[in-house]
Amino acid sequence: MTPRRYLHAAGVLAGADRWWPDGVVVLEGPRIVCVGPARSLEAQCGPLDQWLDLGDAVLTPGLVNAHAHLELGALQGRCPGSRGLLVWISAVIEALASLEPEDAARGLAEGSRRLLETGTTCVGDIDTLGASAAGLAATGLAGRVYREVLDGRDATRTGAAKERLALRVEPGPAGRVLPGVSPHGPHTVSPTLLDAATALARDEASALSVHFAESAAEVEWLNEGSGPLAGLLGSSPHKGALEILEAGGLARAPFSLIHAGHACEEEIARIADLGGVLVHCPGSAEFFGREPAPLAAWLARGARVALGSDSLASNEDLDLRREMALVSRSHPELSPREVFRMATEAGAAALDLVGQVGVLAPGAFGDLAAFEGPSESPAAFLEVLTHERPALLGVWVGGEVC
Ligand SMILES: [Zn+2]
Repeated sequence: MTPRRYLHAAGVLAGADRWWPDGVVVLEGPRIVCVGPARSLEAQCGPLDQWLDLGDAVLTPGLVNAHAHLELGALQGRCPGSRGLLVWISAVIEALASLEPEDAARGLAEGSRRLLETGTTCVGDIDTLGASAAGLAATGLAGRVYREVLDGRDATRTGAAKERLALRVEPGPAGRVLPGVSPHGPHTVSPTLLDAATALARDEASALSVHFAESAAEVEWLNEGSGPLAGLLGSSPHKGALEILEAGGLARAPFSLIHAGHACEEEIARIADLGGVLVHCPGSAEFFGREPAPLAAWLARGARVALGSDSLASNEDLDLRREMALVSRSHPELSPREVFRMATEAGAAALDLVGQVGVLAPGAFGDLAAFEGPSESPAAFLEVLTHERPALLGVWVGGEVC
């Protein structure tokens, strides 16, 4: 029988609404079997073979970063954002031309380690080079690897992009790296390629992640054919971004839409109805000097909102504690509990891993983070966690210390 291990801490924040003072998490193999108050758990779960007392720490679910591009780590500081998204994209394309495979591998290794050392245990990573799954597995990080494809809506490029979809994502030794598909965006992917990408996500029971309504320019070009992208992207479809994605089979698989700052209210309501998850990237928004996205209105519409770091080409760190602090500052109307939910349960929803990660509950993976307190109440702890980047005291993925 697999021995049980017992993590004891002054506070266990099992989810945004579940708090156990003097709590324990019981692990068996890679999964959690019990969570609750120390005094009753031994009776409930049977004898505990080994235990680790974390003292005044607070145990939480490992944080979930719903959107990263770890392979771009080498681009940190090389692409300024102050002159807008289009100038930044040109700089990224130029920098990518000189990016060697070992640069991308280093970005993946360093990025994965940075995520773990800041309390993130699961990531949604956009992969264009085919190296992401191995990079995650090498550090023990869990995640979903979204194979990104785009063809610039140019039929001569569609065939090569479709071939990339055939690449397999290796699940890693513990099966914690899962496949996903990322048709880049409604303005950069042809209807044929979008259909192939969503069909693949359906057929392999994976999930989709799509950049969506990130800039006013792409929304204007999609709808009207005018603006800064006219002449760069061929002929406009004269349709809304979500209309294009739905026609291309978006709802065939669980999906997350990245950024969405220029989505209209009707699109947000429709995304909520479809069960999609919006992913907000606070550090990337700050990098480009964007107006705060209307997150409270999105939540009021019933949409789920997760947090992502985006890449180091448009952010200074991959630390979700910093992303929580940034969104708390830019959106003071959000409660610490809502911000924490974005970094845990909503992230799990974005990756189609509800009940598996982002929560401490029987059956979930033993993905945990231990932070320095205060441990006297969930309100006191959440206030610090979402504003002050408390020290990380330990991190576990699948029950193993990382
Ligand atoms: Zn992105």
